Amino acid sequence: GMPTEHFPSATPNLNDGLVRLSSNENAFGPSAKAVEAMKGELFNLCRYADPTTDVLKKKIAKQEGVSEDQVVVTNGSSPILFGYAEWITQNGNKLVTSEATYEGIPRGAEFMGADVTYVPLDANMDFDLDAIEAAVTDDTTAVYICNPNNPTGRAVDAAKLTAFAKRVSQKAQVFIDEAYIEMSDAYPANVQSQLAADGYNVVICRTFSKIHAMAGQRLGYAIMPVEQAQQLGRKLRMGGVNYLGLVAGMASMDDHANLNTMRDRVKTERAKLTAAAQELGQAYAKNPQGNFIYMDTGMPHQEFSDKMRALGIKVVGRTWPGYDTWSRISVGTPEETDACVKAMKAVLA
Ligand code: PLP
Repeated sequence: GMPTEHFPSATPNLNDGLVRLSSNENAFGPSAKAVEAMKGELFNLCRYADPTTDVLKKKIAKQEGVSEDQVVVTNGSSPILFGYAEWITQNGNKLVTSEATYEGIPRGAEFMGADVTYVPLDANMDFDLDAIEAAVTDDTTAVYICNPNNPTGRAVDAAKLTAFAKRVSQKAQVFIDEAYIEMSDAYPANVQSQLAADGYNVVICRTFSKIHAMAGQRLGYAIMPVEQAQQLGRKLRMGGVNYLGLVAGMASMDDHANLNTMRDRVKTERAKLTAAAQELGQAYAKNPQGNFIYMDTGMPHQEFSDKMRALGIKVVGRTWPGYDTWSRISVGTPEETDACVKAMKAVLA
């Protein structure tokens, strides 16, 4: 049945009694069908996973309307982000992205010596697509877009992003990280994989860590031009996927009822957090579309984090340059989110 009992866990670190709202995990847990599928396949752990990886690639290709040769499957999507950061350094070394976005590619690329341009968010805290386009030059290697964005939760207009990607991809590759896309209200209309199907120079990246609630299992994929998929795929094979992840991922993809329920549950909990921010009079990034909100607490993020922790709630412990008084808070189960709202009120009232 549904694994609703989180505690006690065999791993002591999960038994610290804290409500974990710091990592955008999906506290509702994986699909019961995924859990059943894994149980039924435990003996097959003795097999190498490559042929099954090809089955998942075919399934993804069918779902997204692309060729299976365009799909790279990895152990979570992080290996794609870091592999891609390295690819940038080998293909012109210049990335353009936004401030206040997910660090995987930009920080990875910077660490490896790339030239990274961070364009400020616009007045709505959106990716400023016009300013980003203006910052792209003929020698830009890639543009990183996160939609919905982590940490702001904001999603850009789908038609605007499609048009942007069609133009900008003539100059530089456009990487669209859709880690939270299935949680967004406009799903699936705002999915951008059609660009990849149509041969535009884009990468679409997805993960099973968010709506599929499999962060600890590790499974992710990207869709990209065939030749690049072969290249990057060869490199990332060393971080290859595990058998149970494939089994669970495929079962979860088929469990449409679960995914729809999950979208609703996340939305319900998210609304509690935005209502609390509103009630407390704190500024926050409006209409968030992932499983988290981004809020100006009016105090340094570390202070807020410490105060929430003292009340049993773990919120994100890192910051984004320029947003030191802003904190990102993930949604939890109804009980966890309620506890968080209570703590927010105690800390901020
Ligand atoms: N992309 C975004 C936007 C994320 O927020 C995260 C994780 O929080 C990831 C990618 C990487 O997740 P994973 O490696 O679990 O797929």
